[in-house]
Amino acid sequence: MFGFSLPKLIVLGIIIFAIWYAYKIYERKHIISAKKDEDQGKEDTSSVDMIRCKNCGDYFLPSNGSIYCSKETCIIEK
Ligand SMILES: [Zn+2]
Repeated sequence: MFGFSLPKLIVLGIIIFAIWYAYKIYERKHIISAKKDEDQGKEDTSSVDMIRCKNCGDYFLPSNGSIYCSKETCIIEK
């Protein structure tokens, strides 16, 4: 009933190879997409540049080209 003839072993080998190859392709696609996400993350962090407030020295996100932060504790001396 469970006789292993050569053709059956060859077919089994082809099936195992096909599954392994499909997995390999899937894995490669997964790595490429993960790398893309990583690169996009790098771009996001590098695009945000904080500048130093000329008055109090704190770093803040530039909003309207101002060199002073918009904190209430930072009083700009004019
Ligand atoms: Zn300030």
